[in-house]
Formats: sequence, structure tokens, C-alpha cells
Amino acid sequence: MTPAEIRAELIRVTRQAYGEKMFAATSGNLSYYDRAAGRMYITPSSYPYDRMTEADVMVIDLDGNVLEGAHRPSSEWRLHAAVYRADASVCAVVHTHSPYATAFAINNLPIPPVLYEIVYFLGGEIPVAEGAIPGTDAVGENCVKVLKDRYGCLMGNHGALAVGDTLARAYTRAVYIEDAAKAYSLALGHGPVRVIDPRDVDRILKK
Ligand code: 13P
Ligand code: ZN
Repeated sequence: MTPAEIRAELIRVTRQAYGEKMFAATSGNLSYYDRAAGRMYITPSSYPYDRMTEADVMVIDLDGNVLEGAHRPSSEWRLHAAVYRADASVCAVVHTHSPYATAFAINNLPIPPVLYEIVYFLGGEIPVAEGAIPGTDAVGENCVKVLKDRYGCLMGNHGALAVGDTLARAYTRAVYIEDAAKAYSLALGHGPVRVIDPRDVDRILKK
């Protein structure tokens, strides 16, 4: 993708996420890492989503140095950089504050494999990364710890994180995290829940 295409895709997915109520106010952030160029395209910090355009996208390196852009990069750039450093197959990171996922993050409860999408798209149970003060290195360190063999996690007392090789795939995972959290929350209100047979989980994951 060209730099212009990356900016356009980042804004397209960001607008979709905002329209689908994945963030409250200016919370959440998205990025795409052009590995060949060593450039991370990331949403600006505390900037209204309804006004955000391609020109507002910030370009930084993994050390947070601003390469292009007139704003401050997302305060969670360290989290995004930590994920890109930890897994060379990841080129897109979507951090949401979607309400049902965030509720489980507040309960400090993982979401077990109660829906097949969790297995296919997230790689199994959605774990909870230990909570840390937003914007600190610890946010990324804690997420990286639980992201092994997983494409998403909850972030203690904070929100949710989804990763992928493309922004579209990372965002789809963010949607499945929220959908699973919502359905699981409703199911818990109906009575005991049944998780997917672990042997079927292993079969799907070809373990
Ligand atoms: P930014 O507006 O700086 O991206 O921060 C939002 C957020 O979700 C912090 O965790
Ligand atoms: Zn956040």
C-alpha cells in the first residue's frame, strides 16, 4: 500500500469503528505499521473522531519520534509499538473501549470460547491483560504477555485490543470481541453457560 492508501484505510476503519460505537468520546486508537518503511501510521491523541481526516493521521517510528503530522500521536503509541516489536506478522492494531468488552475488563474476567468466532478469529479464550496506567510501557508489556497465540485481549480496567496483518482483519476481531462479550453477558443473565468442547477448540485450531 502507498502512504496515501494507508492513511485512507486507517481513516475508513476508524470512521467505521466510531460509527459502530466502539469508542466513547475520543478514547481508543488505531494504527498500521508499514514494516518495510519502518513507519507507524497512528490516530492523533484526544482528537474528535467526527473531524478526523487523512491529513490528521500521525506518522511515527517505533520509538515515538514524529516523522509526519501536526498533532500529538496517540498516547498509547508505546502499546502499539510493543505489539509490533513482539510479533512480526502484525501490521495493524485496533484499541477500543467497546462497552461490553470493557465491562469484562473491569470484572477482570476472560471471555471463554462460548462462540465459534472466538476460536476462529481470536484463537481461543479472550484473556485479560493486567491493568496499567494508560500511556505507560506497562500497558504494552501486559498485553504482549497474553497475546501469545491470540489475536486479541481485554485490558484490565480499560478496554480491548485486537491485532492483525491488515486493519480490516484487526477490526473484524475487535467486533467479534465486542459481540462475544455482549452475547456472553446476556447468556450469563439467563443461567449457566456452556463453553465449546475443548476438543472441538483444539480441532478447529488444529492442535
Ligand atoms: P489517545 O486519544 O491518546 O489515543 O488515547 C485514548 C485511549 O484510549 C487511551 O488509552
Ligand atoms: Zn484506551
